[in-house]
Amino acid sequence: EAKSTGRGQVRFFNDTMRKKLKSHADIENDLQHGIEHNEFELYFQPIFTIQDCTVVGFEALVRWHHPEKGFVSPSDFIPVAEHTGQIINLDLHLLELAAQHIAKWRAQGKRFLRITVNVSSRHFASLDFVTQIHALYEKYQLPLGSLCLEITESGLIENLDLATQIIEGLTPLEVKLCLDDFGTGYSALGYLHQLPIHILKIDKSFIDHLTKSNTPLVDAILSLAQSLKLDVVAEGIEQQAQLSILQKTHCKYGQGFLKARPMPANEAILLIDKVL
Ligand code: C2E
Ligand code: MG
Ligand code: MG
Ligand code: MG
Repeated sequence: EAKSTGRGQVRFFNDTMRKKLKSHADIENDLQHGIEHNEFELYFQPIFTIQDCTVVGFEALVRWHHPEKGFVSPSDFIPVAEHTGQIINLDLHLLELAAQHIAKWRAQGKRFLRITVNVSSRHFASLDFVTQIHALYEKYQLPLGSLCLEITESGLIENLDLATQIIEGLTPLEVKLCLDDFGTGYSALGYLHQLPIHILKIDKSFIDHLTKSNTPLVDAILSLAQSLKLDVVAEGIEQQAQLSILQKTHCKYGQGFLKARPMPANEAILLIDKVL
């Protein structure tokens, strides 16, 4: 067999590769099954004001309860779903779950809070997306402004015109757009003012460096956001020192393990308007 495939391929298909391919194929089959059998659950991580740590919203983060493998982390299956194209179905399924939570919380008389949902750039890069979001608002009678969509930089700037059209198509619903992991992608500043986005989320890697004082990079991102009139969320705040440093800046919102981890919906709902 080694003869017919040649040396290069023998090396290519080593055991690690085989295992990887197998697990990708497994995940691909299991993903569809998982969507159909409701194995995905949204956890919610509070987003709070930097100044007084009041909970003002939540980021929805998916959790997969796999029947055999147990808990599978999103970083293990989101990239596979993006690769196979299943991310479009998965994103739609998770957006629907988020809409159901919003509708349920409203029915319970909870004050309106914005829910932020991560959307793959692959999904975002289609005009169908606008139709799908409008349909969701209709189906669940979502109040204007109840959804925020988080997307990474690369996804937006690959096709600026399309991204702009999509964002404009969502404007009547007052859907907010947040650039996730800001600073880690292309960081081509030239495109930022062209995009009708609302929020920048500073990547955790920058927040990690806030140990003694504000850093030039965080400072620069905050100034940039201010001049573009964008709100800022600092992600991955793990230490009190980081929060204290941010409290001396005009960074408005934060998120991180220091105050709250992602949690099931029934726990999250108790934190609405609470000070963490
Ligand atoms: P992300 O959107 O940047 O989400 C932030 C990740 O950082 C989450 O990991 C969150 O649990 C974690 N995190 C939050 N605060 C802290 C902190 O203080 N310290 C540390 N060390 N980590 C913190 P998670 O839930 O494992 O999600 C990983 C990534 O998977 C997300 O990164 C996002 O890109 C993707 N993802 C998660 N849920 C969804 C989803 O529903 N749809 C899509 N398309 N992608 C998702
Ligand atoms: Mg995110
Ligand atoms: Mg992020
Ligand atoms: Mg990040």
